[in-house]
Amino acid sequence: MITVPTAVTVRAPAKINLHLGVGAVGADGFHPLTTVYQAVGLCDDLTAHPADDLSVELATADWVDAGVIPTDASNLAHRAATLLGRHHGRELTGRLVVEKAIPVAGGLAGGSADAAAALVALDRLHDLRTSDDDLLRLAADLGSDVPFALIGGTALGTGRGELVDPVTDAGTWWWVLVPSLEGMSTPVVYAHFDRLFPDAPATPPGADELLDALRTGQPLSLARTLHNDLQDPAIDLRPELGLLIERGESEGALRGLVSGSGPTVVFLCESADHARDLAGALMRTGHPVVLVANGAVAGSHLVPSHV
Ligand code: ATP
Repeated sequence: MITVPTAVTVRAPAKINLHLGVGAVGADGFHPLTTVYQAVGLCDDLTAHPADDLSVELATADWVDAGVIPTDASNLAHRAATLLGRHHGRELTGRLVVEKAIPVAGGLAGGSADAAAALVALDRLHDLRTSDDDLLRLAADLGSDVPFALIGGTALGTGRGELVDPVTDAGTWWWVLVPSLEGMSTPVVYAHFDRLFPDAPATPPGADELLDALRTGQPLSLARTLHNDLQDPAIDLRPELGLLIERGESEGALRGLVSGSGPTVVFLCESADHARDLAGALMRTGHPVVLVANGAVAGSHLVPSHV
C-alpha cells in the first residue's frame, strides 16, 4: 500500500538560560560554557507540507520582525533540512511554513528552535526514522542551542552548550519576558565579554547552587541563584536593559535577568497571578510587548497540523 504523506507540524520552544557561565575564549574562537537551559511556553510551530522542492515561508506574530529573517538557504530550518538530507544521502523536499512567536535575535534561540523543529518534522514527513543520537549530532552541527531545542525541559549544557543532560527540576516556574524591538548579535555580545573580562577563567563558573535550587521547587531559592555572565556586557552595550531589570524588580519581580546574550529580559515570579500582575505593570510603564510563559515545557514535538 502506498501511503500519501500529509503535513506534519512540530512545536519548538524558546529557551532561557537560568545559569550562563562563560569561560575564556579558546584557540578555536569558542567560549566554553556551563549553562542551565529551561524551555518555556513561547513556541514556534513549523509545518512541513509535501512539495517537489524545499522552501521556507514565514507567518509571524506582531512582535516578530519578519524583515530580518531570511527565507533562503541560510534560514536555519532550511539548513536543517539540507543537513538531514545529506545524512540520509538524498535531497529532502518540503514546504516549511514557520509560524514564529519567538522574537528574532532575542537571546531566546528562536532560530535554533526552528532548526530543531525542521529536523523532527522532515524526519516524520519522509519517514526517515533517524535515531535520537543522530538527530542530536545533526542538531549540534547546526548550532550550540539546537540539541536543547530538541530535548526541552530543564537541562545542563556544557561544551559550547551543545552537550545536554536533563536535570531534576521540581518546580513550575512563571516568567515574564520583555523582548526588545531591536535584536542583539550574539557574537557582538561575546566580543564585548572578552573586552570587559580579559582574565575570565578557562573553566566557566559551575551551576551547583542553581541546580540545588531547582530541586527545592521554591521560586525564592531559584531567584537567588540565577546567573548570567553575559548580562554585564549586554547592559554595557544597551544600558536600558539594566533600567528595565531595576523597574521589574521594583514592581515586585523576584529577580530580573538578561536571557542568554540578550536583549530579552526575563523576570521570575512567584505564581501565574503574580506574573500576570507584573506583566500588566510593565505594560503600563510603556513596554509594548510583555509576554507571560511558564517552564519547563517539552522540547520539539508533533502537534496536529493547522496550516
Ligand atoms: P541565540 O540565543 O541562540 O544566539 P537568538 O535568539 O539571539 O539566538 P535567533 O532568533 O536564533 O537569535 O536569530 C539569530 C540570527 O539568525 C538572526 O539574525 C536571523 O537573521 C538568523 N536566522 C536564520 N534562520 C532563522 C530563523 N528560522 N529564525 C530566526 N532567525 C533566523
